[in-house]
Amino acid sequence: MNKNDIIELDITTIAEDGSGIGRFDGMVVFCRGLLPGEHGSVQIIKVTKSYAIGKMLSISDPVSPHRMDPPVCRNFTKGCGGCTFCHVDYQEQLNYKRQHIADCIARIGGFSNVDILPVVPAEFPKFYRNKSIYPFSQNSSGDVICGFYAQNSHRVVPIEKEERCMIENDMCCKIRRVTFDFISQRRTSIYNESTGKGIMRSLMVRTNHRGTPEAMIVLSINADKMPHLQDYINTVTAACPYVSSIYICTNKKDTNVVLDGSFRHVYGKMTIQDTIGDFEGAPSFEISPLSFYQVNPLQTEKLYDVVYRLLPAAPKLIYDIYCGTGTIGIYLAVRAADVRPQLTGVEAVPSAVADAQKNAAAAGISNAEFFCGDAAEVTPKVMAKYGTPSVVVLDPPRKGCDAALIQTVLSAKADRVIYVSCDPATLARDLKLLCETNYEIKCVQPVDMFPQSGHVETVALIQRKLCRNP
Ligand code: SAH
Repeated sequence: MNKNDIIELDITTIAEDGSGIGRFDGMVVFCRGLLPGEHGSVQIIKVTKSYAIGKMLSISDPVSPHRMDPPVCRNFTKGCGGCTFCHVDYQEQLNYKRQHIADCIARIGGFSNVDILPVVPAEFPKFYRNKSIYPFSQNSSGDVICGFYAQNSHRVVPIEKEERCMIENDMCCKIRRVTFDFISQRRTSIYNESTGKGIMRSLMVRTNHRGTPEAMIVLSINADKMPHLQDYINTVTAACPYVSSIYICTNKKDTNVVLDGSFRHVYGKMTIQDTIGDFEGAPSFEISPLSFYQVNPLQTEKLYDVVYRLLPAAPKLIYDIYCGTGTIGIYLAVRAADVRPQLTGVEAVPSAVADAQKNAAAAGISNAEFFCGDAAEVTPKVMAKYGTPSVVVLDPPRKGCDAALIQTVLSAKADRVIYVSCDPATLARDLKLLCETNYEIKCVQPVDMFPQSGHVETVALIQRKLCRNP
């Protein structure tokens, strides 16, 4: 197979990035836009030793009964890489996610007979994101554009003036429009990745969900000062009164890490506050620009409730490893307030640890301690101080847990480990290690935090077997 060949391809499965997968001449071919059961003409655009990538030219009839036509978002068709499953109906997105987890647990984890529960669906699979990052660019006519990067690229696919991103929430949408108009009208220069010149790089917006509406803006610029800053602050806060915090991030590096620079707080509060849970005494959280915070607020509540339901009865000591701003552990401690569990958290980002400490105090949890550092290094010290936990919650980033941390968790001999994962492949790898000796998988419950994309969050309960020969 060669580049530019045009082939006829039958699609059998779909990948996490939304590409259809088929085989041609013994070679795996990925093609965005085609769905399982479909057949199309495909032009090969890249060939490697083990796979090829094709571009869809046409689809033959019949199309998949799960195809959304038109896709949920118009920008999907223009190549926007923000979402990858806009051409698949929502129920089928959920089916795919469940199957993907099952495949990983079987293939990578080596488990047979593990039942994956149906994915907890989102009631609102659109306009859910509480955080969006919009890069600025210029089109070939020199007009300012703002949108999202195309898949695997730094080409900005613009969101046209009268349109909107189908997963940004209303506050993000309004702030994006006001900021875009301001920058276009003032003709502020736009950063150009190839020349390294120009000022405006990207806009990040974070919003809360419950309580008084609040939004945080971070403008990333390739300069020490943003031109017309005071005017911008006046304009955006007048148009969007919920804007309660603004930062400028000076980033002069040739990097694709969006918020890699020095932060200057220029307006309002340092953090925004959100509440998780719709019940009396639900905990509130301070969110800093760089802290991890789940992006789908309604589904976050469902996710944390799943974790709560998997707790042992009357937990005395909860370890929350990879705790971010302390959200899961504090939520659990508040829900289990009648037994006043001791809470200990571990997190690498110092500002998140500081937020966690404040968040616990604000939620009335006095017996909580949060430790800053690498989980693999710090957790043994935490365990030496606090002893055997009732439950260990692990919520690592996509790369999963360090093998040394898994050994530490095993040696702590907790009755239960609840693993919250955003990547089924690393979850399966880590479950294999966790279950090598005395633990077994009791429950795998996926929750759809990311409608319109292939990502899925999974909660797995691992329980210590009753040991006859300890
Ligand atoms: N449990 C939190 C955050 C989960 S995201 C919540 O639900 O909101 C994963 C967190 O792990 C992030 O806050 C990240 O900063 C942190 N992290 C990443 N690598 C780490 C490491 N090696 N040691 C400790 N924390 C780490």
